[in-house]
Amino acid sequence: MTNTTLAPDPYDFLALEQLLSDEERMVAHTVRQLVVEKIKPNVGEWFENCEFPRELATEFGKLGMLGMHLSGYGCAGMSAVAYGSACLELEAGDSGARSFVSVQGSLAMFPIWRFGSEEQKQEWLPRMAAGEAIGCFGLTEPDSGSDPSSMRTTARRDGDDWVLGGTKMWITNGSIADVAVIWAQTEDGIRGFVVDTKTPGYQARTLDRKMSLRASITAEIVLDNMRLPGTAVLPGVTGIKGPLSCLNEARFGILFGAVGAARDCYETALEYTLNRTQFGKPLAGFQFTQGKLADMLIRINRAHLLALHLGKLKDAGTLAPAQISFGKKDNVAQALHVAREARGMLGASGITLEYPVIRHMNNLESVYTYEGTNEVHTLVLGQAVTNIGAFR
Ligand code: FAD
Repeated sequence: MTNTTLAPDPYDFLALEQLLSDEERMVAHTVRQLVVEKIKPNVGEWFENCEFPRELATEFGKLGMLGMHLSGYGCAGMSAVAYGSACLELEAGDSGARSFVSVQGSLAMFPIWRFGSEEQKQEWLPRMAAGEAIGCFGLTEPDSGSDPSSMRTTARRDGDDWVLGGTKMWITNGSIADVAVIWAQTEDGIRGFVVDTKTPGYQARTLDRKMSLRASITAEIVLDNMRLPGTAVLPGVTGIKGPLSCLNEARFGILFGAVGAARDCYETALEYTLNRTQFGKPLAGFQFTQGKLADMLIRINRAHLLALHLGKLKDAGTLAPAQISFGKKDNVAQALHVAREARGMLGASGITLEYPVIRHMNNLESVYTYEGTNEVHTLVLGQAVTNIGAFR
């Protein structure tokens, strides 16, 4: 029966919080509090100065957010929905903060946890879970983006050692990392290497002049005849499926995270238009504005429902990579639409860092491109329903 006296909460219109377990709700609330106290008051300045404060890594570590969906080695062993909900709350603060957690947990810790030797796991995972050691993931290269199999970085054997040469591009945390998971061509196919960034031959240069994800460090990495011991290779995987399995983990966090960025834009636009008067009444009282708010509300709640559904499939062990593509493609596109709409609704105020909207909007441009571009995920869906690959 419908209760006609109930009014939905504009901030959780479909009461989606009820779909979370007590533990998942607790995780979401804890991360939301961290965002309100530590990220929101400062992130405009970090964005302006193009910085990521390293202390945040230890804050994330203390809350068990780094590798939180992994088990053992100091990791929290939470559900996929809990991990996703943490990403959502974090990205309501900034996509850069969520990128840090995605890269650390899903791109750097996950391959070590899944494919690493016991020695590699013991050496890195507990410190990475605590945020004491920062990780990065080197797959993309200047001439190899959407088609990572075409990478030119090579690793050749020299006695018991490996010698790596090549350049990696657009690597999140590349110049602040203590450990890098680097993917390279070998005689047997693509292999992953766990690299202590103090190794001679590892050079990283921070990329500046970015207009997006400014509160996140992005770097170029040059590997100049870098010599590694034989034990540096990830023993558990050979071939492109190694890095792709990591990307699937990270994309899962992104499809939740994008909802958070969109939610923050919607909430900002709602409050702004309720409080600003033009033509004698609040902007929120005009039909144009209400149409936009209703459209944003629907897009955000639909995206959140989709994320929670995919999270349940992941927890049940039945989530397919193409379903992750569905979520990544659509939720990021919806978030970008909401952010652009909110930007306009704030008028001139929408272009300043006094409000979070243009920061989210610009950040989402990176999210649209990384972890598989919008087009790449479209091709994944096309292939999934036709059984015909159209990538080349
Ligand atoms: P390209 O592959 O050159 O694509 C350019 C355009 O062509 C896109 O629109 C694309 O969709 C389109 N296109 C490509 N192929 C096709 C096709 N077959 N059909 C139709 N259209 C096509 N990489 C890492 O390895 N580690 C990281 O930590 C990391 N962090 C990043 C952080 C940021 C802020 C950014 C922006 C990127 C990061 N990346 C990282 C790189 C990212 O994953 C790549 O940028 C992405 O894979 C796209 O590659 P590309 O930029 O070379 O674009």
